[in-house]
Parts: sequence; C-alpha cells; structure tokens
Amino acid sequence: MNTVTLILVIIVGLALGSFSNVCIYRIPKKKSILFPNSFCPQCGKRIRFYDNIPILSYLILRGRCRDCKTKIPLQYPLVEFLTATLLTLAYLRFGLSWDFAARGILIIVMILTFFIDLKHRIIPDTLTLPGVALGFLMSFLVSSPSVLNSLLGIAVGGGMFYLAAVLGELLFKKESMGGGDIKLAMMLGAFLGWQNILLILLISSFLGSLIGGLALLFSKDVKQTRTIPFGPFLALGAIVAMFLGDSIISAYLKTFF
Ligand SMILES: [Zn+2]
Repeated sequence: MNTVTLILVIIVGLALGSFSNVCIYRIPKKKSILFPNSFCPQCGKRIRFYDNIPILSYLILRGRCRDCKTKIPLQYPLVEFLTATLLTLAYLRFGLSWDFAARGILIIVMILTFFIDLKHRIIPDTLTLPGVALGFLMSFLVSSPSVLNSLLGIAVGGGMFYLAAVLGELLFKKESMGGGDIKLAMMLGAFLGWQNILLILLISSFLGSLIGGLALLFSKDVKQTRTIPFGPFLALGAIVAMFLGDSIISAYLKTFF
C-alpha cells in the first residue's frame, strides 16, 4: 500500500466514473461509447474538456450546462463518486493484484447495471455475456474463486435464476424475472463463485421485498410498483458480497458445520 498508488487509484476511479456516465447514457441507446465526445443532450453543444472534470465541474457549474443552463442530473457526480469510492475500497482491501482488477471490473459493471436497469428496465447482454467469459478467465488469475468454483458459479447462478423465473411465471402468471437477470447471475457466479451467488440472492431478495413493500405502501401508482426491476438489487447484493462475502460464508460454515 502506498500513497502514490492510492491517489492514482482515486484519479483513475473518477475518470472511469465519468466514462461510466457515458456508458449508462449510450449503451441502452446502442450508441458507440467512444465517439463522439460528450455533448449536452439538451442543446447539443460539445462539453469542453475543462467542464468535464469529474465532480469538480458539476460543483463549479452548479449543476447546470454552461451553454443552455439545463440542469445536469445529480446522477453524474454521484456515479463518479461511487466509482472512485468503491474502487478505492477494493484497492485498500485487495492491494494491487488480479483480485483487485477482477473486482474492479465487477464494480464498474454493477454500477452500469444498477443505473441502466433502474432507468430502462434492461440488463444489456453487451455487459453480461462478455462478463461471464471474463469472470471465468479471471478465475485463472485471482486467489478466489477457483476455476472450478467459477464454473460452478456460472451453473448455479444460471440454474437458480432460471428456476426462479419459471416458478415466478407459474405462480404469478407474468414474467417476474427476465433473461437479463439470469445472465447477470451467471456473470456474478463467474466472478465470485457459487457460495456468493446464494448470498447475493439472499441479500437482493431481502432488499427487493423491503423496497418493494415500502413502494407499495407509499406509491399511488400500483402498476409502477409491480415492475420494479430486480437488477439494481442484484448489483447491490454483489457489491456487499464482493467485500464481505468470503468472511460471511466462512463465519457461517464455522458456526453451523
Ligand atoms: Zn446545454
């Protein structure tokens, strides 16, 4: 652990957060994430490089476009802050290692999934399918999970969520869990191993029913509540599992076995 690397991780984290905002905006629209440069969606003016500094620019511009004064969503500085913070925590936990690289990738994909699914109710295959492959390949390099556990994770994640989707359709006569959730679970299994899939399912169902219940209580629009996407809860569960999963699982095993 050294200070220079830590500062570098924070700066790279902020830059990746800024890039994540571009991805969240463009991936659901199936637009290129590399070209063109960022522009204001309201007035179409290109964003100057000095107005594109993570978090700082938002504060200096007081959350408005320099040209047309349209409000910039709070989501932009929030995503930048979250990305930098979670990557920094991952670095502090795992050091400069393959484990840090793998979990760093997962953190970014989870942030993208969280915001894209929340807004558009989709989990793009362009994120999850390469994710399954990448998670499996990284298992050859990381200390946890093992290659076998990563494979099992893909199978358990896909299998359990497929089963949940079939059961949900039988019970509620409507699609409760989409194909996007199944592929996301496979990716999480590949990156974190099969035990963590169980933990993530537990955490995300708990959060999902808690938030869903609260929404049902306070929302007037019942139809809206029925279609709360599950992906954001899976993403939250995955973040918890990637930091605490291995300790929770070993504590559980020690207590009960
Ligand atoms: Zn503008």
